[in-house]
Amino acid sequence: MGFPISPLMVRAASAEELIAQYKLIESQRSALGYDIDGVVYKVDQLELQRRWGFVTGEPRWAIAHKFPAEQATTTVRDIEIQVGRTGTLAPIARLDPVSVGGVTVVNATLHNEDYIAGRDSNGLPIRDGRDIRVGDTVTIQRAGDVIPQIVDVLIDKRPAGTEPFHMPETCPVCGSPAVREINEKTGKEDSRRRCTGELFCPAQAVENLRHFVSRGAMDIEGLGAENIELLFSKDLVKTPADIFTLKDRRADVQRAFAERREEQARQREALSGKARKNVRSVEDRNYEGLDKLFAAIDARRDPELDRFVFALGIRHIGETTASVLARTFGSVEKLQEAGREIAVATDPMSVFPSIDGIGATVVEALAEFFGNERNNEALAKLLEQVKPNPYVVTISADSQIAGKTVVFTGTLEKMSRSEAKAMAERLGAKVAGSVSAKTDILVAGPGAGSKLKQAQEHGVEVISEDEWFARVGK
Ligand SMILES: [Zn+2]
Repeated sequence: MGFPISPLMVRAASAEELIAQYKLIESQRSALGYDIDGVVYKVDQLELQRRWGFVTGEPRWAIAHKFPAEQATTTVRDIEIQVGRTGTLAPIARLDPVSVGGVTVVNATLHNEDYIAGRDSNGLPIRDGRDIRVGDTVTIQRAGDVIPQIVDVLIDKRPAGTEPFHMPETCPVCGSPAVREINEKTGKEDSRRRCTGELFCPAQAVENLRHFVSRGAMDIEGLGAENIELLFSKDLVKTPADIFTLKDRRADVQRAFAERREEQARQREALSGKARKNVRSVEDRNYEGLDKLFAAIDARRDPELDRFVFALGIRHIGETTASVLARTFGSVEKLQEAGREIAVATDPMSVFPSIDGIGATVVEALAEFFGNERNNEALAKLLEQVKPNPYVVTISADSQIAGKTVVFTGTLEKMSRSEAKAMAERLGAKVAGSVSAKTDILVAGPGAGSKLKQAQEHGVEVISEDEWFARVGK
């Protein structure tokens, strides 16, 4: 059909011929002008292909034979830190340029500080425990087409006076503390370090702004990811508060959108070779679009508190956790107050109220967020523009459980745990996650264990699920 085909593709009649061709291609690999990581052998008789078929999606009549990873030796000139869009600090080795299989390599990924120090996530040695330092001679490799990695350090060639690498404990972009979180499940430190300047850090800004306007968060119509990136790149929106002052900078916003339209039109022209778009008419439509956009922004100046808390983009706080926090604290100010309190506490968990569904990971994330004064400054600026609705609990005057602290335990048969909680809170009760002397009522279903025992020790009133329903009048 006239397609160009590779002259290196041959028909072989024996295993020896296959290997000979493999070696020939390997010897020409660096001069091919394109990257390959091996060859594929195929049976070319269609009848045999049909008969042999596939095993778990893989043909029995074709097999890949990979080339060994290509290696080279070079020197680490520097170790730089890049801050990703989610705030992760990623160390990168800057290398003396070296050719690996015909490709010039100048960078290698270093993953994280443990990797640099020569240990894996379980604390076991990698590279026999040899660390990577600026000035070291290293072996690098490209396996497949992935980013080059450092395979080993030639310790004999380490110059005198090198220092072990120290990961910065502050974000190189914004100066906020950069921390390693404790994984709640494993109890181990995360191998990656993260910047805590969620609302502030320029490296995280775009990602945070995108989250802020997204559907589950502030849900600002017409302000999707694409527009946020545009407004950010034109310096029109740097923090969430800036979104609400866009209206005052109408001419600038207008220009940003018009420039993008023109750019897109140019790209289309270049592609098709003929002008299709009348830029002027696009601009005219834009005025109408902007009014709609500004109206959509204004419509979100008094969001529900749970949406607002979620929109802040605090680590580990999803929609569910955000609404639990909204219900518990009732206002941003109260949540912030609690956050600041735990930020300076030696044992945050003992200071933070015990809430069903809120664990150490969330408490720590709150402490880090509100412990960073620049997040608080950004929040204050945002609160000048946005007034979240305080979360109000409707309490019926005759409720027998209003003001009481209730704990649920065991298997509930007529309602889920979250329904039970929501019901109790609607009726003005406080729902706690654990039993203490302050608990008034324990609602115990079948299989209740330690909480039941604790309740009996504290002399807390224990009732069944049916009794609970009788009491709340359902
Ligand atoms: Zn930062």
